[in-house]
Amino acid sequence: TRDAVDLLERRTGAYAPLQEHYYAAPPQIERGWREHLVDTTGRHYVDMVNNVSVLGHGHPEVAATAADQWRRLNTNSRFHYAAVAELSERLLATVPDELDTVLLVNSGSEAVDLALRLTRAFSGREDVLCVTESYHGWTVASDAVSTSTSDNPLAEQTRPGWVHTVELPNAYRGTHRGAGAGEAYARDAVAEIERLSRAGTPIGTWIAEPRNGNAGAIGLADGFLAPVFEAIRAGGGICISDEVQVGYGRQGEWFWGYEEHGVVPDVITMAKAMGNGHPLGAVITRAEIAQALADQGTFFSSSGGSTLSSRIGATVLDVIERDGLQENARIVGAHLKSEVERLAERHPLIGTVHGRGLYLGIELVRDRETLEPAPDETAALCDRMLQLGVVVLPTGDRQNVLKVKPPLCMSRDSVDFFVARLDEALG
Ligand code: PMP
Repeated sequence: TRDAVDLLERRTGAYAPLQEHYYAAPPQIERGWREHLVDTTGRHYVDMVNNVSVLGHGHPEVAATAADQWRRLNTNSRFHYAAVAELSERLLATVPDELDTVLLVNSGSEAVDLALRLTRAFSGREDVLCVTESYHGWTVASDAVSTSTSDNPLAEQTRPGWVHTVELPNAYRGTHRGAGAGEAYARDAVAEIERLSRAGTPIGTWIAEPRNGNAGAIGLADGFLAPVFEAIRAGGGICISDEVQVGYGRQGEWFWGYEEHGVVPDVITMAKAMGNGHPLGAVITRAEIAQALADQGTFFSSSGGSTLSSRIGATVLDVIERDGLQENARIVGAHLKSEVERLAERHPLIGTVHGRGLYLGIELVRDRETLEPAPDETAALCDRMLQLGVVVLPTGDRQNVLKVKPPLCMSRDSVDFFVARLDEALG
C-alpha cells in the first residue's frame, strides 16, 4: 500500500541501514493477537516466525502485569523486592540442583556476554570454542563467537584470535552424515580441543546451541555433545548451552534444549521467550562460577532484573505452565512436522524438515541427491506465502531454510492454514 511504501522511505531515511527489513514490499503490521497479525489495511497473517512472543501477541495477562507494576514501582535489582527472588527461584526449578544461581539481564546478547565473562573468570582462560553457522548475539563478545555468515559476511576475516571453531555437526549435509555422524563429529572436535591445548591455547569455554536456530533448527548430531563436554571439562574448560532460541519449552519434548543430549551445562543463557517481548534475559550457573566473577569485580545492569521485568518474567512462566504451552508445542509441532513431511512426498523442493516441536526448519533443495540449496526458490516462496497470508522467512548461511518458530500457543487450525498455503505456494 501507499502507506507502507511511505513508511519504508521514512525508515530508510532515518534509521541506519544495518538491518534488513523483511520483504521487498513489507506490509505495515499494526496489531496482533495469539499467532495472528493484522496490517493497516486490515489484512490478516499467520505469524510463523515470532519466537519471542511465545504466549502470543498482545497477551492480556502480560499487559496487565506490566501496567500494574509500572504504576506501583519500577526500579533496579539493587533494591530489595520480591520479584527478583521469585523469578530466580522459578527459573532454578527448571534446572538440575547443581545449577543454583541466576543473573538477570535484558537480552540474549547480554546473557551470552555475561556468560563469557563468567566462564573466563572461572576457567582463567580466554579461548572459546564454538561451532560454525552459529549466532549468539550482537555485542562485541557475543558477535565474536557468532560464526554465521548470513548475519555477518565478514565473520571469518574479523574473528578475534581467541575464538576457535569446529564444524556444526549437521548430519544432513555436513562432512559426516547419517547414523554415527555425531560420534564422528565428536572425534573431530575432541582432536581439535587437544590440538589447541598442545598449541598453548587451551579452551576455557565451549558455547553452542543444542539445536542451532540460525542454521534452521539443525540439531547437533546425536552422540556429539556428551563427549565434547567431557573433553572440554577434562582440559579445564566449562560449557555454555545457549538456550535463547531453543529453550523455554519450544521443542515441546523438553523445557531446555540440552536435555535432548543427556548433558548438564555449567552455564545456561536465555532471553527471547522470557518476557514475551519485554526485554529480559538471564544466565543460570553454579554459585562457584558466579563467585569467580564476583572475586574480580561486580555485575550490575540498570534494567536487567528490574521490578517490571521480573514480574513479567514470572507471569510468562505462570501462563506457559497453566496453559500447557510446552505440551501444545509438542502436539501441534508434531502435527505440523508430519503434515510438511507429507507435502514433501509431492514437492521435491522440500529436502528435509529439521527440528522438534515448534522449532522447525524446512530445508529447500534443488536436488535431493546433491542437496544443492534453493535460496532463490526460498525467497520467492516467502513472498508468495505473504500474499497468501502467512509470514514465514528464510534462514541459514545458504538462505534455503524456512524458519518455523511460531508462538507456542499456535493452534492446529493455524497449522492447517499454513500447510495448505505452503502446498499452494510450492505448487
Ligand atoms: N543467542 C541466540 C541463540 C539467539 O538466537 C539470539 C537472537 N537471535 C541471541 C543469542 C541474541 O539475543 P538478542 O537478540 O536478545 O540479543
